[in-house]
Amino acid sequence: MSATRVLVLNSGSSSVKYQLLDMADGGRLAMGLVERIGEETSRLKHTPLVTGGESREWSGTIADHEAALQAVSEELAKDGLGLDSPELAAIGHRVVHGGQAFTEPTVVDGAVLAEIERLIPVAPLHNPANLTGIRTAMALRPDLPQVAVFDTAFHTTMPESAARYAIDVKTADEHRIRRYGFHGTSHAYVSRATAELLGRAPEEVNVIVLHLGNGASASAVRGGRCVDTSMGLTPLEGLVMGTRSGDLDPAVIFHLARVGGMSIAEIDTLLNKKSGLVGLCGDNDMREIRRRVDEGDEAARLAFDIYIHRLKKYIGAYYAVLGTVDAIAFTAGVGENAAPVREAAVAGLETLGLAVDGALNAVRSDEPRLISPADARVKVAVVPTDEELEIATQTYALVKKID
Ligand code: AMP
Repeated sequence: MSATRVLVLNSGSSSVKYQLLDMADGGRLAMGLVERIGEETSRLKHTPLVTGGESREWSGTIADHEAALQAVSEELAKDGLGLDSPELAAIGHRVVHGGQAFTEPTVVDGAVLAEIERLIPVAPLHNPANLTGIRTAMALRPDLPQVAVFDTAFHTTMPESAARYAIDVKTADEHRIRRYGFHGTSHAYVSRATAELLGRAPEEVNVIVLHLGNGASASAVRGGRCVDTSMGLTPLEGLVMGTRSGDLDPAVIFHLARVGGMSIAEIDTLLNKKSGLVGLCGDNDMREIRRRVDEGDEAARLAFDIYIHRLKKYIGAYYAVLGTVDAIAFTAGVGENAAPVREAAVAGLETLGLAVDGALNAVRSDEPRLISPADARVKVAVVPTDEELEIATQTYALVKKID
């Protein structure tokens, strides 16, 4: 097959993020974002990367996803990269929830669409938008393989002991309640890149991956396979996040309903949108929180401490789950950039073989790097994630296999 380009689409309810990559060398040709689809002033920002061109911004009405993809196609065509190009090998779609059915990237057909649709009750916010993106791309290029890459797939290797909640089995099965986990493409990419950084095969190493972005999740990866992760049925469980609470006593929900008189919808909004760092101190951006901490702000300090306390609990838990840990990898917006978070997360864990070298931790870089002292028993790494490259890589590998 001579076509080597892959378009990666991440379709949200009112946005489409995209990147065009050439898998001959993994290079990025263009990237961009369409926002506020369906609103009066939609916005498109397109950055051509081959021509070294300036970003182009456009605003006006983009009525729906079809119009959005048309606009993207027109922008790409200006640099000779249009979607009608024979160089395009496939379109890779991020799909948030693949349930138990999808353990690998999958070429989309009618049955696959139906299964993604069947999963809407467990991913009501994401799967409908992902489906719209796929259907739109299929209409535009029906001849091209459309590949769904699932956020949950990497976690389907978890043993039942980690994936099942301790609730009535019949009820759980009837409603498909179990730990699915999310950010899977990131955990897959980062755990593999960490092994590479250590100069070892992924099958040989155990890694704890800490994906700390606005959403945040941890995973325990044994020999390249996920054995536990902190997000659950939905992305609400686990670490303290930008706006999500993470773990709490489920009875908090009954209490808010019975005593607080709140509706389920209000509690849902409270825990997903108004909790976490923003709920604790009014800010969800770690840069701003650190600035406030440095100024002596008490609420920001407490929010930071709660964030770190939870992170440490997961490091300890996954250390115990894995038994032996070769590396801990920090990734995503906070993990890649916030040195104080990395330092505080492993502080006091020297007896577990964990430490951070202050000077190495302070270095800013886009490259994967080690920040632990040279003789550290457990390596601490910063590994920038690249979900688009991972989606493109998985998509391309699949279409090459079936070619
Ligand atoms: P993500 O979801 O991976 O894009 O991460 C977004 C989050 O990363 C933001 O909300 C910030 O909290 C955090 N972030 C981004 N840049 C920095 C930085 N330079 N220092 C600290 N935190 C950062």
